[in-house]
Amino acid sequence: MITTGEHLERILSLTPALGSETVPLEWARGRCLSEAVRARVPVPPWTNSAMDGYAVRAEDLAAASESAPVKLRLVGGVPAGSAEDPEMTSGEAVQIMTGAPLPTDADTVVPQELTDKGDEVVAVYKALPRGRHVRIVGEDRESGERIAEPGTGLTPEALAAIASAGVAEVTVSRRPRLAVISTGDELVPPGQNLSRGQIPDSNRMLISMLAEEAGATATSVRVGDRPEQLAGELGRIRGEAEVIVLTGGVSVGAFDPVKAVFGGDDFVKFDRVAMQPGKPQAFGRLDGDGPLLFGLPGNPVSAWVSFQMFVRPALRRMQGFLALMPEAVPGRASERWRTPKGRQQVIPVRIHDSEERSVQPAAAGGSGSHLVASLAAADGYALVDAEVEEILPGDTVQTVRLRDPEQFNQRPRSRP
Ligand code: AMP
Ligand code: MG
Repeated sequence: MITTGEHLERILSLTPALGSETVPLEWARGRCLSEAVRARVPVPPWTNSAMDGYAVRAEDLAAASESAPVKLRLVGGVPAGSAEDPEMTSGEAVQIMTGAPLPTDADTVVPQELTDKGDEVVAVYKALPRGRHVRIVGEDRESGERIAEPGTGLTPEALAAIASAGVAEVTVSRRPRLAVISTGDELVPPGQNLSRGQIPDSNRMLISMLAEEAGATATSVRVGDRPEQLAGELGRIRGEAEVIVLTGGVSVGAFDPVKAVFGGDDFVKFDRVAMQPGKPQAFGRLDGDGPLLFGLPGNPVSAWVSFQMFVRPALRRMQGFLALMPEAVPGRASERWRTPKGRQQVIPVRIHDSEERSVQPAAAGGSGSHLVASLAAADGYALVDAEVEEILPGDTVQTVRLRDPEQFNQRPRSRP
């Protein structure tokens, strides 16, 4: 048996990086940035007003008070979007709206509320320090400063920052093209009436959708247990995919087609990985330089766990993400469950976050690689070390919450 870490290391060592492409921001959500983005314009682009009010020179207001307001002559107005830069001198003011460029001759904005809102002459009731209510050009980023870092995912927040910096396109990794082949004579499409022995094929959809969430495009097909049929499908898709994921048929059963097709292969290796579920795993690069080929066990929970542990990190590596594995967060078990000695357990769990994170198996009775209906209740998974045999209420367990994009963040903790 090899450890999960050893298996992942071998996978990543054979995983190539994909090329990149330049796309408009609207297409870039979730994708991995290949090149740093630098501001093309300062943010904010102009020194502007933070309030609706009056642009003034602070020194004019030094003596202003409620009982002795300072009166300024209005010499113009600038709404947001206006290109005007009215000249003004001592004793004068310009009406200004939030976001409008501050006149060059002004240094401070008096909010409307501190005035009599006059329209020829305005009375100001309060002195203000110079620069008050003024947003300075380049205060957030100067032109040329970095806005987003390569190897990070483009969130709506990152894309808004990039757009604000005057950039309309980004260079991102190509999407990996992934093909799923589910294998098994017992499999039928979801919803079909089942003859004795048949089961609905859930892996085909599960793996395709998880792959899409991980940034890939996915196609999928189902085959039976005849090795020739699997070999035929592989021949058909191998030129169109960078990653092929097979589910089922990797163990030593008499009809295991993946084993039959790749049993003596020089490049696809069959391993027993010290993990529960998901022990039998096949992985290699077809012919040494072709698509990555994952042979995952067929039990849906095993296939799901295998995707989390091995396929997703490979898809992320291909796209150039720096963070390959989500950061695990400690939680506290709220019930007892058993875990096999000598194998790392990866168990679907329900997670409840309040003052502390409470964790319980998603399926009643703990683990079971066939308990696919209970997968619907999983908020994430727990990772239990190989030596542990039993989790008791109150024990600390490492957990990963599904679809928590923060867990892949590798942003610096301090501000740049
Ligand atoms: P295998 O890995 O082919 O030995 O399959 C292990 C178990 O997973 C068997 O109970 C299969 O019926 C089940 N299984 C295999 N493939 C799928 C699938 N695509 N969807 C749902 N269950 C599956
Ligand atoms: Mg099978």
